[in-house]
Amino acid sequence: MAEEKQEEQGLKCPICGKKLEDNFFEYHCDDCGFKVQHVISGTKIEDDELKKILAGETGPVHEFTSPKTGNTFKAMLKLSANKLEVKMVFDWDSGLKCPKCGKKIMESGKGFFCEGGDFKCWREISGTEISREELKKALEGQGDELGFRSHKTGKTFLARLVLNEAKDGLEFKFAERKSEDTGLKCPHCGKKILETDKGFFCEGKDFKCWKNTRGHEISREELQKILEGQGDELDFVGKSSGKPYKGRLVLNDAKDGLDFEFADKKDGLSGSELTDIARDGGSGAGEGQ
Ligand SMILES: [Zn+2]
Ligand SMILES: [Zn+2]
Ligand SMILES: [Zn+2]
Repeated sequence: MAEEKQEEQGLKCPICGKKLEDNFFEYHCDDCGFKVQHVISGTKIEDDELKKILAGETGPVHEFTSPKTGNTFKAMLKLSANKLEVKMVFDWDSGLKCPKCGKKIMESGKGFFCEGGDFKCWREISGTEISREELKKALEGQGDELGFRSHKTGKTFLARLVLNEAKDGLEFKFAERKSEDTGLKCPHCGKKILETDKGFFCEGKDFKCWKNTRGHEISREELQKILEGQGDELDFVGKSSGKPYKGRLVLNDAKDGLDFEFADKKDGLSGSELTDIARDGGSGAGEGQ
């Protein structure tokens, strides 16, 4: 019994069936010359996996490093048709069906491609790697919200991936940007002030107030009071110091935004706090421009 166990654990030559010799760097067959390295392009292949590969299975996706360029790439390992070597396979069936033509979607290190040539989805989308599971969810309309980084601006953003209208790829679906009528009138032109998740903006594009001002999230009610000249004392936070301070927001002279005023100008503020506030933008309230 114990002997059998031992036998099972040894790796056998896929050509002649002889037990493979292990010389630390590679397995090799003395009889027919078959050999396979333990580390292939920087990736160690475990015995369990190798055993399956030698039995004809295609291994899991690995990340390899090109010894020439140092670049990483993804591939799977498989025994070659003549069984003389273990080779890399770059395309495999993702198990997913093309949403356009129903043919197989093949997966490679570069991405996902329909056999019929109509659907494609790159492996990396705006700095985020798309897994088979994520593609599956996206095709089912169940994609999670993922973080991306714009190649152009470097800014990060959240979006879900969904099938595009042409059904030949994915596109971003951003969280609904609500743009609600606040019921407030623009102090400059009298048109509607709309609220989005970023701030309050006049339809006529002349008034704006960012929601996050000096670490304070301005509510619609607060803005209303401010526009009526009844603004409450609010709590702010110094951007660099993280220190809280109090102040008031008032409509600026140009009536196109808000200005900041200290709650009590006689309040003894330390030098660093003043610097901090100055850094936050001494004139005009708001940030994010
Ligand atoms: Zn052999
Ligand atoms: Zn297709
Ligand atoms: Zn306006």
